[in-house]
Amino acid sequence: MKILVTGGAGFIGSAVVRQAVRDGFEVVNLDALTYAANLDNVASVADAPGYAFVQADITDRAAMDAVFADHAPDAVMHLAAESHVDRSIDGPGAFIQTNVTGTYTLLEAARAYWTKAGKPDGFRFHHVSTDEVFGSLGPTGMFTEDTPYDPRSPYSASKAASDHLVRAWGETYGLPVVLSNCSNNYGPFHFPEKLVPVVILNALHGKPIPVYGAGENVRDWLFVEDHADALLCVLQNGELGRSYNIGGENEARNIDLIRTICGLLDRMHPEGAPHDRLIEFVTDRPGHDARYAIDPSRIRAELGWRPSVTLEQGLERTVRWYLDNENWWRPLLDRDGVGARLGVTA
Ligand code: NAD
Repeated sequence: MKILVTGGAGFIGSAVVRQAVRDGFEVVNLDALTYAANLDNVASVADAPGYAFVQADITDRAAMDAVFADHAPDAVMHLAAESHVDRSIDGPGAFIQTNVTGTYTLLEAARAYWTKAGKPDGFRFHHVSTDEVFGSLGPTGMFTEDTPYDPRSPYSASKAASDHLVRAWGETYGLPVVLSNCSNNYGPFHFPEKLVPVVILNALHGKPIPVYGAGENVRDWLFVEDHADALLCVLQNGELGRSYNIGGENEARNIDLIRTICGLLDRMHPEGAPHDRLIEFVTDRPGHDARYAIDPSRIRAELGWRPSVTLEQGLERTVRWYLDNENWWRPLLDRDGVGARLGVTA
């Protein structure tokens, strides 16, 4: 089976690419290489037989048609997106362009290719999305696949729009689609501006660790390699037209997550301990969703999937990876003013 993975040089896409190649799939990695991409993320599989990389933008219809014609994939896993909520607040335009127009363009190219090929039964278009489309929960309850959409940030609104487009292409044109909505990921190769790497890198530099509001916001956390595993499971075994919520069964308040990382650093990198002295509460993000929680019953009952690591185990692996891979993250601090914004330098 040959899989076209969009966004395969990003955080989750590269985990999917690495795992798919290890599992023996042929993989075409399509990525525009925005600030968030890094081909080092897939360096371990770049020479594998059956792996190809194409630099292209999903909003470019001619380029998408060419990729389908040249590579004839059996399936698409669509992860390319603008993904950072804070950036969507500062500049929503890129999110509409890539997440909405880009998904539309990719759907149309996929539909043309699938139609021309005689609508083969086995073709799949797997759209990868987020639990943020469901909005914000109170102290109780969980998101199921039937929870009404209620996106509240430009990022989540653009992802919600893309989910609707994918469902509509399934209903209207019969395109064989499957969707998944996942909670917050963390793990190796996570771009330095995201919460978990910010905590690790600022702690290593002895810089303040910024915490929005009182750190009371609750998220469900999933180790990225478990997400990649779940996505390949949904692609192969998911029912057409259905969506699957993917979660880590690991709810944590931001402040508790941050304290756990600081505790791991105290043990694994005692220099500068105790690291939680660096925690600094900052003005909350506008419209900051209070709580996300995933009910993963469907994927567990129907596909037999569940996460392989606990939050503590996954965070320990993540901290170890950042301690051992300074050559990966150090140059990224220079990119797009990321290091300067975080108060750490390259
Ligand atoms: P990321 O920002 O690390 O990677 C996105 C990739 O898409 C980058 O390599 C980028 O170059 C590429 N890209 C962006 N615009 C493009 C375009 N116009 N054409 C082609 N490529 C383009 O994001 P991520 O965290 O790996 O997220 C991947 C997907 O998973 C996204 O769709 C996101 O919404 C979804 N998701 C993320 C999380 C999370 O916690 N990170 C959780 C659930 C779902």
